[in-house]
Amino acid sequence: MAHKDYYQILGVSKNAPKEEIKKAFRKLAHKYHPDRGGDEQKFKEISEAYAVLSDDKKRAEYDAYGRTFAGASGSGAPGFDFSGFDFSGFGGTAGQGPFEFEFDLGDLFGDIFGATARRGGAQTPRGRDISIDVELTLNEAATGVERRILLNKLTACGACAGTGAKKGTKLQQCPRCGGTGRLRETKQSFLGTFSSVRTCDLCHGKGEVPKERCSTCSGTGVVKDAEEILVAIPAGIESGEVIRLAGKGEAAPGGVPGDLYVKVHIAPHPTLRREGNDLVTQLNIKLTDALLGASYQVDTLEGPITVKIPAGIRHGELLRVRGKGMPVEGGKRRGDLMIKVAITFPKKLSRKARKAVEELRNEGI
Ligand SMILES: [Zn+2]
Ligand SMILES: [Zn+2]
Repeated sequence: MAHKDYYQILGVSKNAPKEEIKKAFRKLAHKYHPDRGGDEQKFKEISEAYAVLSDDKKRAEYDAYGRTFAGASGSGAPGFDFSGFDFSGFGGTAGQGPFEFEFDLGDLFGDIFGATARRGGAQTPRGRDISIDVELTLNEAATGVERRILLNKLTACGACAGTGAKKGTKLQQCPRCGGTGRLRETKQSFLGTFSSVRTCDLCHGKGEVPKERCSTCSGTGVVKDAEEILVAIPAGIESGEVIRLAGKGEAAPGGVPGDLYVKVHIAPHPTLRREGNDLVTQLNIKLTDALLGASYQVDTLEGPITVKIPAGIRHGELLRVRGKGMPVEGGKRRGDLMIKVAITFPKKLSRKARKAVEELRNEGI
């Protein structure tokens, strides 16, 4: 991070009185205000400089320790009066009466120590993610399949539709946060006073709590229940692939549900092995069939097919049957079936067979 000279940013001297700093800021704020087509980055910079230099305590810290402590966050600093300025359209809380800066301590310390800033002081709670495993046959992986999965998990209460209120009763303003859904905390540190905001733990950020609690879920809005979930597994899925079903994880009181992750395993097939988009199978043929040619039955995903073995085929040779492999691009086309030919040599020859082979040898074969 580059050194920031707040005095230089505002164009004032180190011993400028408060009034002069305010004047300088007003002038620059008007010039760089994003609503007037100004440079937003520049505007943030001067806001940050003013947030520090207009506050006696922060200014003293800044003067004593340099930029490090006074850096604040890009979103400004607390306890700083912006009244008299039109902030409409700037920042998230603009145009709603008195402007107020709020930021998360995580942000601030992230800024100072260069760590990744933890975002959001008042987040909506999120339910736990669930991950499960499903096993498919190779055929199911090839055609795609729908699986019904019964999950025992925290889910939105059916009796109150997740509100936590007894049926027919109303919600009332949360007494803990006064309906804002957020609780403000002020913390003292050697850097000064910081206020941080977190989600109200009574209403989970909703600002309302049930007047009378739902008896099924005791007012939490969630219950442990079995839910049947339909998982559509696309054709051509590979072993180890994970399907994410957004919002099918566990529910959270007053929050959004987590996700469900379905990891697919494909059980080995007795004769077919997958290699990318192709299927590979081994075919054992007799020596005489290799010499003379023959027809063999070969397994495919759709059942056995007859394959012609040309005379004179060699051991280990590959025969390709187009379009009998795994589906590609969701079934638009298919890979091939590769047949690896293995010639079975007889271990023992009968006297008759031996004689025949000797004749072959005499033929020069
Ligand atoms: Zn309920
Ligand atoms: Zn509350």
